[in-house]
Amino acid sequence: MSGGQTNHVKERLIQYLQCPECAAALDLLATQNDGAEIMEGELLCRSGVHCFPVLRGIPRFASLDHVAADKAETAAKFGWQWTHFTQADERYAEQFLAWIAPVRPEFFAGKVVLEGGCGKGRHTQLAAGWGAHDVIGIDLSEAVESAFAATRHTPNAHVVQADIFKLPFPRIFDYAFSVGVLHHLPDPRAGFRSLAGKVKPGGHLSAWVYGAENNEWITRWINPLREGITSRINPRALLHLSKLPTAALYLATKLIYRPLNQVGNGAVAQHLFYNDYLQAIANFGWREQHTIVFDHLIAPTAFYISRGEFAAWWSDIDARDVEINWHNKNSWRGFGELPPHSSAL
Ligand SMILES: [Zn+2]
Repeated sequence: MSGGQTNHVKERLIQYLQCPECAAALDLLATQNDGAEIMEGELLCRSGVHCFPVLRGIPRFASLDHVAADKAETAAKFGWQWTHFTQADERYAEQFLAWIAPVRPEFFAGKVVLEGGCGKGRHTQLAAGWGAHDVIGIDLSEAVESAFAATRHTPNAHVVQADIFKLPFPRIFDYAFSVGVLHHLPDPRAGFRSLAGKVKPGGHLSAWVYGAENNEWITRWINPLREGITSRINPRALLHLSKLPTAALYLATKLIYRPLNQVGNGAVAQHLFYNDYLQAIANFGWREQHTIVFDHLIAPTAFYISRGEFAAWWSDIDARDVEINWHNKNSWRGFGELPPHSSAL
């Protein structure tokens, strides 16, 4: 690797970390450096009681061996997914902005940002590119390896392996976001609250979750299949098996949804089943559609959240100016401001 701006576990990350057990500051002891990037080492808490490894450049506050089985299983499955599907797509920026609307790229300028559940790091990387002061992506799974590889040459992007319920940070973030992750937690509402608890008073938060509304066909037909079969089989076998429904999706979006949405302002298309969403993904290529199908079949845990329930999450944290919007008529996105004074979070 080259020197200069590309180095840095980037030492500037350490300032944001605290012991997730006792909230004491952490000191980094490096055992192996690669330039100024610390590849192997230990983070020792100043209470002297707790110690966390740095492995392959990533601080590890959680490992799948030490979390509840249901969380570990979901994380392991998504970890496999994001180390397999590492492609970048130029539509990621547009897709990300649709999930966090009304936030725009300029909103990130100068902010210290936390991503709850970064997967392969595509949003962490985008936020860093849009001028965030620093962005930290956390994930419980081995996806952190892909995220680290994607962000290691970006000085203001950082990756930490941690549990969203036990985050290793004080309340220091100007903005936190989580897209497509909370609904896979064993307790989505508690995960949301935990993330919000790391945002400064007056800071902002975004979340995007699967909706209960309009997804009855998924909860009725796909969920039993997912829970009973597809989340239990070997990921590599599922990878191949999922090509069959992907082929059906691919042909339907390319041959029916896309053309019909291009005629007469979509007057006919609007009557098609699940049109808003299928139209939105109609321009994706095979590999991205395959990722989407695979994503829906692999997770052992997935909740579909109603608008009312989602609104209650925002009330829990006493958020101000909350905007909750329907996205593709199958999911909810929310954005709000934390109260100006410390609350009970
Ligand atoms: Zn400690």
